[in-house]
Amino acid sequence: MGGAHLRYVDAHLHLDVRSYEDLEKMALAGIRHVVTCAHDPYPGMTREVYEALYRRLIEIETMRGERAGLKVHVAIGVHPGGIPEDLEGTLETIEKHVEKDEITAIGETGLNAEVTPTARKALEAQLDIAHEYDLPIIVHTPGRNKEEVTREVLKILAEHPIDGELVLVDHASPETAPEIAEEGYAVGLTLRPGELTVEEAADIVENLADGARLVASSDLGSMAADPLALPRLALELERRGVEKATIRAVVHDEAASLYRIRE
Ligand SMILES: [Zn+2]
Repeated sequence: MGGAHLRYVDAHLHLDVRSYEDLEKMALAGIRHVVTCAHDPYPGMTREVYEALYRRLIEIETMRGERAGLKVHVAIGVHPGGIPEDLEGTLETIEKHVEKDEITAIGETGLNAEVTPTARKALEAQLDIAHEYDLPIIVHTPGRNKEEVTREVLKILAEHPIDGELVLVDHASPETAPEIAEEGYAVGLTLRPGELTVEEAADIVENLADGARLVASSDLGSMAADPLALPRLALELERRGVEKATIRAVVHDEAASLYRIRE
């Protein structure tokens, strides 16, 4: 096993703020598919800025990926950190791209540490779109107040008609992962220094792999992150003697099935 024989799907990252060399590094390590998600890269996100960001992801990031040897899938949404004044208009833009079949998922959406009525409305509206168009959705949970806000997220999800199979609740911690799994949502193991270490993620895999949908990602973005996060997790799991099928599920199969990625 190891990089040369295992294939990876990185389920959540932000390529638009990363160098071409990072993309190449991922391709060299055996990462074949990545899902680049909308985020809030600028202060004061507006509908126009989101429109430009979505076009960048759909037109430019897919092209950069192709050059580097990565198939880039695109998720677009309204990030809880940058809810635009014209939320309705931004949601219309999202639907336009959905209807043109240009995207793979909605996201990332979710809630930040401060849960405002607007943030809740934005999340619910994006769940409506995912439900209506039968698309997967990436739901962010915050670093601060994680347990409380994750519970809030799970409550909103439970009250929504969306199929749980479509939902990835991201940035799970050792505390929140079991609750997310219990409700039947995919559990996002976002491997970022200071957030979830490779060792902590490996512990979660050892505890929950049986029965839970665990989905690893690097959340490569503006902050400290590791393009090789998935190969590192696979190596750690291999060292611990975890079964190959389980390792493959966490770094490839579950994400491929969530996003309906075919090789
Ligand atoms: Zn992210």
